Amino acid sequence: MTDALAIATDLMPVLARHAAAADAGAAFPHDSVRALREAGLFGLLVPAEYGGMDGDLADLVDVAAVLAGGCLSTAMIWAMHCQQVDAVVRHAGERLRSDLLPRIAQEGYYLASVTTEPSKGGHLLTASSALLPEDDDLLVRRDAPIVTGGEHADGFLITMRAGPDAAPSDVSLVHLHRDQVEAQVVRDWNAMGMRGTRSVGMTLSGVAASHQVIGQPGGFRAIAVDSMIPAGHLAWSACWLGTARGALDAVVALIRSRHVPSSMSRDSELLRQRLARARIDIELAGGYLALVRDEVLRRRHSGQPLDDRSLQIRIDTVKVACSELTFSAVDRLVQLGGAMIGYQRDAAVPLERHFRDLRSASLNYSNDRLVGAIGTMTLLDGAGRLP
Ligand SMILES: Cc1cc2nc3c(=O)[nH]c(=O)nc-3n(C[C@H](O)[C@H](O)[C@H](O)COP(=O)(O)OP(=O)(O)OC[C@H]3O[C@@H](n4cnc5c(N)ncnc54)[C@H](O)[C@@H]3O)c2cc1C
Repeated sequence: MTDALAIATDLMPVLARHAAAADAGAAFPHDSVRALREAGLFGLLVPAEYGGMDGDLADLVDVAAVLAGGCLSTAMIWAMHCQQVDAVVRHAGERLRSDLLPRIAQEGYYLASVTTEPSKGGHLLTASSALLPEDDDLLVRRDAPIVTGGEHADGFLITMRAGPDAAPSDVSLVHLHRDQVEAQVVRDWNAMGMRGTRSVGMTLSGVAASHQVIGQPGGFRAIAVDSMIPAGHLAWSACWLGTARGALDAVVALIRSRHVPSSMSRDSELLRQRLARARIDIELAGGYLALVRDEVLRRRHSGQPLDDRSLQIRIDTVKVACSELTFSAVDRLVQLGGAMIGYQRDAAVPLERHFRDLRSASLNYSNDRLVGAIGTMTLLDGAGRLP
């Protein structure tokens, strides 16, 4: 077990302790996030030379799954932060890296993500609002309808059209420190699930220095393909998997305990069928996640790009499959638990919260968009073969 995984395992009960209150109050899980920062986990992906834990995407997947067994909102706050860190590590210039990475590692500097935009919705690879040159700097004015942890972030990575004359597909990724930006919350977060993520609507207005553009101006697509999409899809999938595993373990523990309700008799064949189906969903999600994780890691270690069609299909498929399979697993456990264990807010196992939280998985980057992209690539690629 790596250090990071051992730390996450120790902290998981802290997250679990605060999860219900974060959900009930749609409140940012301050205590849980503070515990992750103080333990250094915000710097999981920061290279050792900048003081970080020097982790890779395998560590990200392992830690995310453990944390999400305690609180999915906290795990996603952390996973989305790590997704931003990966982009900084791999694509920022040295000046921004040496400014940000030691702070992420030592202070737990928290990076939020701004990609969604009202006029273009979720589409990741386009932007409407343009960076406006102002002397040597860049003016950023951005509506940001959903920013996880936006009220509490120390900085933002924001997608912007590269300039006033640039095409919508000519996107730059720009960093702003909180003290460089006037950040106003314009919509509260009162969602069905993932309530602790405080994914509020914001307007952001500030001025970035030119070295705060990450990668080439207009070059966001390369960052998305190399870093943001694979890191995001793997980390989110791991989070959803961790929650589904935690739910199944808790249900099994209840069934095996003295407190098992008579409606959940372990002698019931139907109960075993339902447990098996939940386990099969989780096995398939975990197995495919491991396969894609290993392929991405192999490519990274050997310096190969990730932009061939078959791997792109798999990186999109892992997100779609894990979002559906983990939600299905918890749905089956709700059915197994019935009206008292499955459907009550104060049940012994918080299946009702897991169900609401996991309902977001197909929306948090719309599966419809990804399935459309997979279909387009399949027209060119056919059935493909596993590596
Ligand atoms: C818990 C949570 C946290 C989030 N955190 C952040 C964050 O920190 N930062 C951020 O920028 N965003 C964040 N998002 C936004 C998220 O990543 C999506 O981009 C956003 O939810 C898109 O919203 P949408 O489904 O309304 O829009 P769209 O993706 O624009 O879709 C709108 C509708 O059109 C359909 N649709 C769109 N395109 C297609 C297509 N090609 N084929 C078929 N149907 C299509 C969709 O199914 C949907 O019904 C978060 C979302 C959630 C749920």
